[in-house]
Amino acid sequence: MDIPKSHPRYESLLKREKIVEALDKGILAKAGLIAHGRGETFDYLIGEKTTDIALESIKAAAALLVLAENPVISVNGNTVALAKEDVVKLAKELNGKIEVNLFYRTREREEKIKKEFEKEIENGEIRLLGVDDANKQIPNLDSLRGKVSEEGIYTADVVLVPLEDGDRTEALIMMGKKVISIDLNPLSRTARKSTITIVDELTRCLPLLIKYVREYKNKSRDELEDIVNNYNNKENLKRMLNYIADRLKSLEID
Ligand code: ATP
Repeated sequence: MDIPKSHPRYESLLKREKIVEALDKGILAKAGLIAHGRGETFDYLIGEKTTDIALESIKAAAALLVLAENPVISVNGNTVALAKEDVVKLAKELNGKIEVNLFYRTREREEKIKKEFEKEIENGEIRLLGVDDANKQIPNLDSLRGKVSEEGIYTADVVLVPLEDGDRTEALIMMGKKVISIDLNPLSRTARKSTITIVDELTRCLPLLIKYVREYKNKSRDELEDIVNNYNNKENLKRMLNYIADRLKSLEID
């Protein structure tokens, strides 16, 4: 379908197209459609823009990623469908590690996702983990959902998990890892369990995250540690909820 650029919901419709395409290609599980819809709802409530509150978590996340010794970006079908290029850009600014980590894990879907990154793997731009080497197990998760790569999530100190589920976030935190999540729902278990939660839309916040990672590479460790230590995730989530509540109260229906 050709969506006219003048359409008031152009961006949103374009994302829907990408999500549907990914379903047709076998990259996305059907439940990914529902997850996307939940995200859209919260984005509507937030006003479909990056708030100053989210920007604070983006900066803290960038500082944590630059400080990390072994960061890994975990991807699922939705993330690949919407933001593959920016995930690659961010990985290239870090150590190049991307790990496929699916809620509904099937060999077929993993292979299809791997194929999406074929060019970047061949060029040596990234390392795609979690497909042929998912032979370690996250404790406290059922066997299929807990399979991870030793070089990737299993030994990572910081894991970026766009659109993750709460159980897995909690299990990663219990392993002693720092978890950065991107989740439009400030009430989700993921949002509440993460070390840093970016309550923003994935494709909107990734370019900002990349920008700050690039910028922060010029900062000292002390400066970066200050940024991370001055950030309070619970406080940030509370402010986000208040922002949504105030915004809804101020909206006029005519
Ligand atoms: P939890 O287990 O953390 O309570 P959940 O059951 O709501 O979460 P899922 O349905 O597995 O989680 O995940 C979808 C989450 O991803 C939702 O919270 C949704 O708001 C969020 N989400 C969906 N699309 C996007 C997007 N494009 N950008 C940011 N967040 C998104």
